[in-house]
Amino acid sequence: MRQPFAITIDGPAASGKTSTAFQVAEALGFHHVDSGALYRAATAAALRAQPGGGWDENAVLAAAEIVVMQARKASFTPLLGGKEAEDEIRGDTVTAQVSVVAKMPRVRDWVNAQVRSLADLHDVVVDGRDIGTIVLPNAGVKVFLLADGHERARRRLLQRLGRQGTTAEVEEEMGRLAKRDALDAVQTVPAPDATIMDTTDMSQAEQVRQIIDLARSAGAAS
Ligand code: C5P
Repeated sequence: MRQPFAITIDGPAASGKTSTAFQVAEALGFHHVDSGALYRAATAAALRAQPGGGWDENAVLAAAEIVVMQARKASFTPLLGGKEAEDEIRGDTVTAQVSVVAKMPRVRDWVNAQVRSLADLHDVVVDGRDIGTIVLPNAGVKVFLLADGHERARRRLLQRLGRQGTTAEVEEEMGRLAKRDALDAVQTVPAPDATIMDTTDMSQAEQVRQIIDLARSAGAAS
């Protein structure tokens, strides 16, 4: 049987990884796996179990037992207690806590095991921070997305508010992103064999097209 093909898309917060990965997966008939959503789901589960925070690794892993990945359209998305919880896992409370949970080594092992088991069975596009370096080092195509802080903040606000942010909102968002960048810096490193794409002046469609071209040149079926 043919080995499944993996494409990894890593990069900092709000660099456009998740929407790009989803569109690449759709175009190639692959499955999209958002590793950040797993860290977010574990954090949301821990918050449900103990809303005040202060969890240790064992508490997060016990709470995360309610998380199951389910195939939905081109994506695998986490369910919490059998139900979709997209708003909850993308909300401000989870976003403010997720980097602390993501520092826990056994939580990282838990996420990595889930991503690898999906990549063992399916052609995948996985987005995250350390997918090309640690999780799937033998992936057929590795991409690392960059964009300058101002542009990332602008895109994030457009996505969240459905309109352009004001100057003050953009500055505030840049501050939040810089804080998360600092907390995530250790695991957010491009693999030596990754293609670095600075998307500051690139459209989403252009990013998607370039990654599909890389995948086809590397022999991905479509
Ligand atoms: O990609 P997203 O911003 O949704 O990820 C949420 C958080 O999960 C990140 O801020 C980071 O702390 C963590 N993460 C990680 N490694 C990954 C994916 C996400 O540490 N591969």
